Amino acid sequence: MASPTRLRASDMPARGGRLSAVLLAGVVVLTACIPDATSGVPTTRSQAATPERDRAHSFTVVATGDVLIHPALTAQADRDEGTVGDGRRDFRDLFAGMRPVIKGADLALCHLEVPLAAPGGPFSGYPAFNAPPELAGALVDTGYDGCSTASNHVLDQGEQGVRRTLRAMDAAGLRHTGSARTAREAAKPPVMDVDGVKVGHVSYSYGFNGIPIPAGKPWLANQLSAERVIAEAKKARAAGAEVVIASLHWGEEYQHQPSSEQTALARRLLGAKAIDLIVGHHAHVVQPMERINGEWVAYGLGNSVARHEEPIGVSEEGIAARFRFTHTGKRWRVDKAEYIPTLVDLGPPIRLRNLTAPGTAPAPESLRRTDRIVLSRSGGKDGLSRPGR
Ligand SMILES: [Zn+2]
Repeated sequence: MASPTRLRASDMPARGGRLSAVLLAGVVVLTACIPDATSGVPTTRSQAATPERDRAHSFTVVATGDVLIHPALTAQADRDEGTVGDGRRDFRDLFAGMRPVIKGADLALCHLEVPLAAPGGPFSGYPAFNAPPELAGALVDTGYDGCSTASNHVLDQGEQGVRRTLRAMDAAGLRHTGSARTAREAAKPPVMDVDGVKVGHVSYSYGFNGIPIPAGKPWLANQLSAERVIAEAKKARAAGAEVVIASLHWGEEYQHQPSSEQTALARRLLGAKAIDLIVGHHAHVVQPMERINGEWVAYGLGNSVARHEEPIGVSEEGIAARFRFTHTGKRWRVDKAEYIPTLVDLGPPIRLRNLTAPGTAPAPESLRRTDRIVLSRSGGKDGLSRPGR
């Protein structure tokens, strides 16, 4: 988001979600031409409708889990590029199973948990990640507009790692929020344009694996506190944001239920006027979704892609959370919340699968488990649904 080459949605190729939003705006204009109940003469409310014409009346947001590039995924991308060991990699096939969902959203947000390396590497996995920079282009190709970058691994490669990562994301046209190269970049309100609607996106992490933030450079990575999240959300609002989304790297690894810190923080942040939606990362397993005061939190989206050294089944599972924001006349509200279960098929080849896509090999155990966990708080009662269920 703090990118100097920030793109507006109108600069990007049209796609399904945006097109339907434009059509929707057109329908509103047409139906505004209705007979006046008292005179029977058609009156046009086009003056009222005009300012809305190039703005969406609703838009969809899709958010997905941790992009955690273990060495096996880099090796897969090397194979997928064609010639193994030629120094080129292609991550697009890895994500291709989710491309229709991601491209279909008006705003698609990923979570890049790892720093990006120089083009020739060296690349590394846990504990100090360094992933090939081709990943940024693959995320754009998949349909992502931007990623949150504040994670416990954001400082794995130090200040240079932050710089390289954001440079590669800028070069690919992928927005970012959560880390910055300069105080000036960090101070820019993280606001983007989605079909004429200004949307803020902030990103914070509970910590950085004990790696201290270099002295005098607190802006390199965003450390989570309720006060900081609210302050930046307010700044986004002041810069015109009508909706603000918070990506939080939080919770306990491999725990399906949110910690008491997560539930308390969710209540506090969703209680703040400036924040409309929370999407969570870090647990590497799926956590529930819950509506609080009419707003949603997805405590943990699980992994988007990962290849843990010891896969445990649940660490291959994730969800894409999809929200439709509709303008009520006063403000934007989520009037539809969904989750789409995913699975990293360890192959070979390693592939991310949408478990609700037609023709996908069934994974009933994963699907049942994900349903049970996601709905284990009050989500189902509050209208949370998934395609095909
Ligand atoms: Zn993490």
